[in-house]
Amino acid sequence: MEYFKELNTTPRILLGPGPSMVHPRVLRAMAHPLVGHLDPQFVNLMNEVQEMLRYVFETTNKLTLPISGTGSAGMDAVCCNFVEPGDPVLVCTNGYFGERLFEMVSRYGADVTRLDRPWGSIFSPADIKTALEEKPAKIVTMVMAETSTGTLQPLEEIAKIVHSHGALLLVDCVTSLGGVPVRIDDTDIDIAYSCTQKGLGCPPGLAPVTIGPRAVEMLHRRKSKVPSWYFDLTEIEHYWGSERSYHHTAPISMCYALREGLRLVMEEGLEARYKRHRENAELLWSGLQELGLEAVVPYEYRLPTLTTIKVPDGVNAAEVSSRLLSEYNIEVAGGLGIFKGKVWRVGLMSYGSSKENIVLLLGALSRILK
Ligand code: PLP
Repeated sequence: MEYFKELNTTPRILLGPGPSMVHPRVLRAMAHPLVGHLDPQFVNLMNEVQEMLRYVFETTNKLTLPISGTGSAGMDAVCCNFVEPGDPVLVCTNGYFGERLFEMVSRYGADVTRLDRPWGSIFSPADIKTALEEKPAKIVTMVMAETSTGTLQPLEEIAKIVHSHGALLLVDCVTSLGGVPVRIDDTDIDIAYSCTQKGLGCPPGLAPVTIGPRAVEMLHRRKSKVPSWYFDLTEIEHYWGSERSYHHTAPISMCYALREGLRLVMEEGLEARYKRHRENAELLWSGLQELGLEAVVPYEYRLPTLTTIKVPDGVNAAEVSSRLLSEYNIEVAGGLGIFKGKVWRVGLMSYGSSKENIVLLLGALSRILK
């Protein structure tokens, strides 16, 4: 068999929906020598990671920790811990990831009511109120930043309505955390999960979750065992809680990465970071307009971290993305599901959200589209 050469990937400018650009400091942190997952040095690192996760989620929730796995592992973990067979769950679906939540919640045997809105639009508080009046639910699920469409779902009013109907609010923060305000405690979100490879600027591999007091109570009142062994928070809370007793081997190097990614968030400061993401998104949006390109989502609820652009008539979406990659080393993505071939998706997240990347992309796009 042929002896393969040492790995030597061409660096890319990652402006798709994730993974986003990783800061060199995060990559350097990953190269640190391993310690054991119960080594006092690692236990200390776990404390630091949890404290910084609380900072970025803007919460005091004790049960805040990174689940081992990508964003979908976070989604699966919260679904299997909080949904019991027969539970009434309202799943709000306006894109590909809302549909994934519907699929997961259904697999755990919930009595699901699915509330659909067209892709590219958002839910109004009245939508949720009407749905809960028609059929009460134990949990309402929402995707805050729908990466398939580029919408940013306002949640404050919805959280009040959900709670006034005695339900808990479960939110996907995969494309919002670290890029746009999530504010778990102020918004009053009960259950949230995210990922490391977008707004936190790390590689994919961990899924930060945070669980509020009402949800912790619900977890401890479960009638049945959590159906997944690996994602069982009633067990994982002992490893990430005060006992630090073994559950599974933590992905050590990914925790190093997350620690450094979070340190970068703290150094910049949350408000400054939100401002940078918003200002850079505005720069992209005005540049696209100058090129005659149109955003799919109306300005009022357009997501700064991920923009969907309509593919003009007569243009082959895949060919443009492929030329961006091969000629300019820039990665953007095409559409998912019903948006396939109809949109491009441009992510401006974390280290990748910079003026120079935007100017490069706009320049490359203008040359290709000419
Ligand atoms: N939820 C949203 C909104 C996403 O954008 C993604 C991935 O892009 C996921 C969930 C799943 O995350 P992962 O691909 O890291 O498993």
